[in-house]
Amino acid sequence: AVLPKNGYPPWYSAFESFYPRRLKKRLDDCFSRPICGVPGRFVRCFDRISPDYNESFLYSGELKSLLNLSSYNYLGFAQSVGCCTDASIKSLEKYGTSSYGPRTQIGTSDLQIETEKLVAKFVGKDDSLMFAMGYGTNANLFTSLVNSKCLVISDALNHSSIRFGIRLSGAAVKVFPHNDMKALEKILRESISQGQSKTHRPWKKILVCVEGLYSMEGDLCDLPALVALRDKYKFYLFMDEAHSIGAMGKSGKGICDYFGISPSKVDMLMGTFTKSFGAAGGYVAANQDIIDRLRLDISTNVYGESMPPAVVTQINTSLRVLIGELNGDEGKERLQRIAFNSRYLRLGLKRLGFIVYGVDDSPVIPLLLYAPPKMPAFSRMMYERGVAVVVVGYPATELISSRVRLCVSASLTKEDIDKILTICDEIGDKLYLKFSSGISGGE
Ligand code: PMP
Repeated sequence: AVLPKNGYPPWYSAFESFYPRRLKKRLDDCFSRPICGVPGRFVRCFDRISPDYNESFLYSGELKSLLNLSSYNYLGFAQSVGCCTDASIKSLEKYGTSSYGPRTQIGTSDLQIETEKLVAKFVGKDDSLMFAMGYGTNANLFTSLVNSKCLVISDALNHSSIRFGIRLSGAAVKVFPHNDMKALEKILRESISQGQSKTHRPWKKILVCVEGLYSMEGDLCDLPALVALRDKYKFYLFMDEAHSIGAMGKSGKGICDYFGISPSKVDMLMGTFTKSFGAAGGYVAANQDIIDRLRLDISTNVYGESMPPAVVTQINTSLRVLIGELNGDEGKERLQRIAFNSRYLRLGLKRLGFIVYGVDDSPVIPLLLYAPPKMPAFSRMMYERGVAVVVVGYPATELISSRVRLCVSASLTKEDIDKILTICDEIGDKLYLKFSSGISGGE
């Protein structure tokens, strides 16, 4: 169908017009700006609300290069010249664009076997299994881990992929309020005491699911408390490290590294390659028995196309840079950069008087806007001043805690962050976002 000049479908006109159209236009402006090129330190976006923008002729909108706080590119590997991307280009020439088959047939490359071992070694487990999609990893994993005789206890703010996966498994599900360890213990105690004795538990397995770093809140799971509960109640512990692997901990090894806890205390470590490795896909790492079983049992692994080789190469190369096997100290420098940038931006915002959630080391910084109409306003004002941001509101958050989620990257310079702080300062005043005169002094 030919779209009208304003870019809206013909049925979306006349009577319904004024408010919905205005609202849709403002929401489109926040959420689906098409991009062009690699989203690294800068991202090139089309301006969807410029007067000449039209969906049916994409390139009519203005194309603008913006400082990028909107992509997951924590370690800056999305745009590495002379490193990962070059290696991926060579890999394309050698292996082609696809694996051309599922893992169990002819879709497993030497590269993939090597990379799975590398991932496992990095996170401190016997072995790992990689999937073409991060979301799909969680969506498919739980049907092979638990069934209707099992109980899954899940943090209330777990990602949609975990919630989807555990519902699909058919297990009984209980949800505890976010990071509330007392509530978790109460559920554990009640669930276990339903059995007749200590040795006869009513559930075949109890699996507790948490995330390492919660990306909407910028806070961490209470791993020390979870491990103490695991020792006491003998459940399996699953942790999704999509946002923490590569970005948290002294060596970038995630939340166990951050807290100085042995990875053996977490039964399954899951993560994605989309955030810190400039790649795509997900993994689950665990002891050999669990991975051997999952390898045969997870249907996407058996029947679905495996990860494209150029993506595997991107993961392999960025990991080897991170552990210092390639490019000397570059891995260390990236880790130092993301740690500095995250704290520098967060503390700068706090000093200006903004309310930000989460821990100071988190590379994702939720800045509270509260009122939903401030989402499109903030996004637009940042855009006009040359910064791309992602705003988040209902249903991903409560209506009243609408926020902007700033994703920090190692590819940003200190000058970039100073510029971002100046812009936020101005917009904060215009939108009445500052709730205090700011923290004094520095950390
Ligand atoms: N788990 C968590 C905690 C996530 O935040 C996300 C996506 N942001 C995923 C899984 C899905 O990963 P992907 O985007 O790589 O598919």
